[in-house]
Amino acid sequence: MTANAASHVGTIVLLGAPGAGKGTQARLIAEHYGIPHVSTGDILRENVAEGTELGRKAKAVMERGDLVSDDLVNGMVADRLARPDCARGVILDGFPRTTAQAEWLDRDLAQRRERPPVVVNVEVGYNQLLQRLTGRRTCPVDGQIYNIHFQPPKKEGVCDVCGAPLVQRKDDKEEVISERLKSYERQTLPLAEYYRARGRLRRIQGDLPVQQVMTEIFRAIEGSAAATGTE
Ligand code: AMP
Repeated sequence: MTANAASHVGTIVLLGAPGAGKGTQARLIAEHYGIPHVSTGDILRENVAEGTELGRKAKAVMERGDLVSDDLVNGMVADRLARPDCARGVILDGFPRTTAQAEWLDRDLAQRRERPPVVVNVEVGYNQLLQRLTGRRTCPVDGQIYNIHFQPPKKEGVCDVCGAPLVQRKDDKEEVISERLKSYERQTLPLAEYYRARGRLRRIQGDLPVQQVMTEIFRAIEGSAAATGTE
């Protein structure tokens, strides 16, 4: 299962609840295939930080935890996909979030004579998600991620690498988490159904070790490429 640097990979959409390990897997997939990892949340946060027009429009909506309008996000993704580094393929993380975005993506790919996306849904049980999210601690200095239940630092509360005190993300507090998980379900169930109905949804069991989940995802991606007769 080796990635051929010259081969066309296409568009991969990664779906998964907060805490499903989507960010970790997206990075691994991007590295394996040599394609960019495009996270709409990251691009929006960059725009907010830089105070661009898009950032100014998105800021208040993001702070409320609502979704930024489809038009704004679709336009932003269109610009990103038009860059040369996306020519062989791209991994989309956090997009699409609504069926309107999924329809837009299908139209955009069809116009560019690209095949439809391979959609991987990383599924993790509710209790496991809760433990992962409530246990997550990060180092504010070097971004190192720990989990007090599964991957604790050597010394409690302190980063192994740089010794800085670890912090808990505001939205990883227990009272916020169940809200985040509920709103994810509301948004994503219709999206998963959209792709399932079109025979594109690949379900992956996400509560296994990282390497095993990764291998299953590669298998799903390569199986889909073989099924559409493209390489
Ligand atoms: P994330 O980092 O993916 O959790 O995204 C952070 C925030 O950015 C979300 O709560 C939304 O406000 C906004 N956002 C990210 N991706 C999208 C999207 N595809 N559609 C609408 N809003 C989005």
